[in-house]
Amino acid sequence: MIAPERTIGIIGGGQLGRMLSMAAAQLGYKCHIFDPGAHPPAADVAAFHTRAAFDDLAALAEFGAAVDVATYEFENLPVTPLASLGEKLIPGARSLAIAQDRAIEKKFIESCGARVAPWRGVASLAEVEAALAELGPPLVLKTRRYGYDGKGQAWVHAASEAASAWAVIGEEPAVAETGVDFAAEYSVILARWDDGRHAFWDSPRNEHEGGILRRSTVPGGDLIASQVEEARSAALRIAEALGHVGVLTVEYFASADGPVVNEIAPRVHNSGHWTIEGAVTSQFEQHIRAICGLPPGVTGLTRGGAMMENLIGDEVDRWPDLVVERGAHLHIYGKGEARPGRKMGHVTRVVR
Ligand code: AMP
Repeated sequence: MIAPERTIGIIGGGQLGRMLSMAAAQLGYKCHIFDPGAHPPAADVAAFHTRAAFDDLAALAEFGAAVDVATYEFENLPVTPLASLGEKLIPGARSLAIAQDRAIEKKFIESCGARVAPWRGVASLAEVEAALAELGPPLVLKTRRYGYDGKGQAWVHAASEAASAWAVIGEEPAVAETGVDFAAEYSVILARWDDGRHAFWDSPRNEHEGGILRRSTVPGGDLIASQVEEARSAALRIAEALGHVGVLTVEYFASADGPVVNEIAPRVHNSGHWTIEGAVTSQFEQHIRAICGLPPGVTGLTRGGAMMENLIGDEVDRWPDLVVERGAHLHIYGKGEARPGRKMGHVTRVVR
């Protein structure tokens, strides 16, 4: 067990690292952020910041020596350098390697007995056209690596769109997957300990706009409730097969014939931000508990439910109204420039 007062390393200094640091600080831990940026949002609320590239082996070795455990807050990280942290890296490099490549991820999810949309790996325009002929439209092309918030994605509704979609994703190796006709989207967020203990939160219904999460709501409604047991057991099989320790998120489409996995994130997730005020133990605190070997916290709702809304781009300028709204919990990530599409903050309203 890693007791309070010890130091937790966090690789990546975005808003997830910031909220992890705040939860860790509440439990008396110090955090050390590893991030190449000059002023990453997490460094504002952490004890230490190493500014170095994610593949800087010397800097990683020094960081590894300075922390008691190291975790990561996003998955687009180079696996081999991070693996040099050895057993101090929790979750391990395997969760990272599988989650950061959409083709490997889909195969892995299928090997765990969970369903994904029918898909093909594609590496040329001819393969995109062949996938379209086999699977039928609509397809969505997603680059295998480095996509997030709808970036690196393009839809193909007809053969005439194949070339332009292939160009939009930069002619990168990709997956071509069938467009799922879903009634809702939701996520299963769980935390797992190295001895197999685990805990789930209520599954939020997630609404996206332009590929970016707009809001998450719990309870998620009857349709999600009717699928969540199956979705949870698939998510737990995935966590176990990964040997994952910490929080793991599995994003789902609620289709007419049951849960279809969209993707996994080996980390705390935007659709779990509501747990800060809406659940007895937040996803951030629980991740710290799991990686440090503290006992699981209770994950039940604090009240009847919660709704989290992202503040994207200049929506953060609404803060003067939100900060006076009774019962609105405002979070601003301290990112400075409010570029379009950038997640600048969020607001959670807990329902009685
Ligand atoms: P992703 O980056 O893969 O999470 O995709 C972002 C959003 O695009 C998802 O949350 C969905 O709203 C939509 N989307 C992605 N893949 C599909 C699909 N195969 N069928 C329908 N909608 C999709």
